[in-house]
Amino acid sequence: MQVGKILFPITTLGPGKRLGIWVQGCNRFCKGCSNPELQIFDESKNVSPDKILEATLNLEFDGVTISGGEPFLQIQDLKALVELYNDAGYEDILIYTGFTLKELTERNDEDINYILSHIAVLIDGAFDINLVDNVPLRGSSNQNVWILNSRYKNKYEVLMTKDKTVDIFCFEDDIHFIGIPFDGYDKLYRKLLTIRRGK
Ligand code: SF4
Repeated sequence: MQVGKILFPITTLGPGKRLGIWVQGCNRFCKGCSNPELQIFDESKNVSPDKILEATLNLEFDGVTISGGEPFLQIQDLKALVELYNDAGYEDILIYTGFTLKELTERNDEDINYILSHIAVLIDGAFDINLVDNVPLRGSSNQNVWILNSRYKNKYEVLMTKDKTVDIFCFEDDIHFIGIPFDGYDKLYRKLLTIRRGK
């Protein structure tokens, strides 16, 4: 599976302290994509789902969020990843995809159906910069938050009443903002980056 980054703890893309896995590669190139560095596929970023599990299981997370890139362009690995985390006791798996739920179910693909029946939430639809709204967890109003496992209904519904926020990860020469962009997000990012780089 091509993986762009794995971060922990993520608190802005689902309830609790989460493990965030961003796959590498997406062919939509949406204007305003918040992860443009994850659009180009890159074989050098291949890592097996087993290795991902092995490298992360010692972290104490409440759930797993898988984004990208486009997770459903790596269906077999995505299925393996969902199965592995399920087997490790994690049911609260949230996946972001540019496909709609309808497009996915209409394919009637065994692996896709398996994934959809073994995750808690799917947030679907490609980001549309003209439809940006202020609803937590999603970037634009064409996207839907599908709660596929009713056991997580309350948790996610409570989260949907909160304000948008971001997690900030500082690296040597870069800053990653994790979360759904809100008004003023770009300005804050540039300001923090300037401070971080001492310019
Ligand atoms: S579908 Fe998501 S990852 Fe792909 S280009 Fe659009 S916003 Fe970016």
